[in-house]
Amino acid sequence: MENKPPIIGVTGGIGSGKSTVCKILESLGAITYYADDRAKWLMVNNQKLVDGVKNLFGSEAYTDTGLDRKFIAQKAFKDDTLLNKLNQLVHPVVADDLKNWIQTNQKSPLLLKEAALLFETGSYKSLDRTILVTAPEEIRIERVVKRDAHRSREDVKSIIAKQMSDEEKSSLADYVVVNDAKSSLIQQVMKLYSRLVIT
Ligand code: ATP
Repeated sequence: MENKPPIIGVTGGIGSGKSTVCKILESLGAITYYADDRAKWLMVNNQKLVDGVKNLFGSEAYTDTGLDRKFIAQKAFKDDTLLNKLNQLVHPVVADDLKNWIQTNQKSPLLLKEAALLFETGSYKSLDRTILVTAPEEIRIERVVKRDAHRSREDVKSIIAKQMSDEEKSSLADYVVVNDAKSSLIQQVMKLYSRLVIT
C-alpha cells in the first residue's frame, strides 16, 4: 500500500514568516495550500459562497472587479455576529476545497496548510502535525511595514494585539521555528523537513 503524505499546518502571527517557511519547504519538495489566499479566491469563484456573501452583506459586497474586501471588512469589524456568520459560510467551503486538494496531491512527499488561524479555529485538530513560526514583535513589525506599503506600525501593532500570543500557540504546536534573524531559518526548516518526511 502506498504511504499517504503527512498534512502539516504552518501558522504564526502576522509577519512571523509563515509563507517564507512554506517556500523553503516547497524548495525541498513540499506543496502548500495557502488557506487565506484560497478563501479569498473562493469568495469570488465559488457560486454557493458568492450567494451566501451577497445574502449576508448585500450585493454591494461585490464590485465589477470582484469582492469589495474593504466594504466587508468595515461591516464585519463592527459586528461580531456578522463576522461569525461569514466565518460559518467560508469555513466549510474551504474545508471541502482542502479535502479535494489533499486527494489530488497524494503523490507529494509533504502537504502543508498555511493559515494565520489554525489554533484559534480548532482546524489544527484535523491535521497530522503543526509548525508554529515565531519572531520577536519588533522584527515582525519592521518586516511587515517594509513588505506592505499600506500598513503603518500602528496597524501592525493593533493586529498583533488581537492575535493569540505565541506562548499560547507554542503549547499547542508540535514544532516551533524561530525566525528571529539570529537562528538560521534554512537550517531549522531543513531539519524539520527530514523529520517530517522520513519519520
Ligand atoms: P502574514 O501573516 O502577513 O501573511 P507571514 O507570516 O506569511 O506574513 P512572510 O510573508 O513569510 O510572513 O514574511 C514577512 C516578511 O518578512 C516578508 O517580506 C519576508 O520576505 C520577510 N522575511 C521573513 N523571514 C525573513 C528572514 N528570516 N529574513 C529576512 N526577511 C524575512
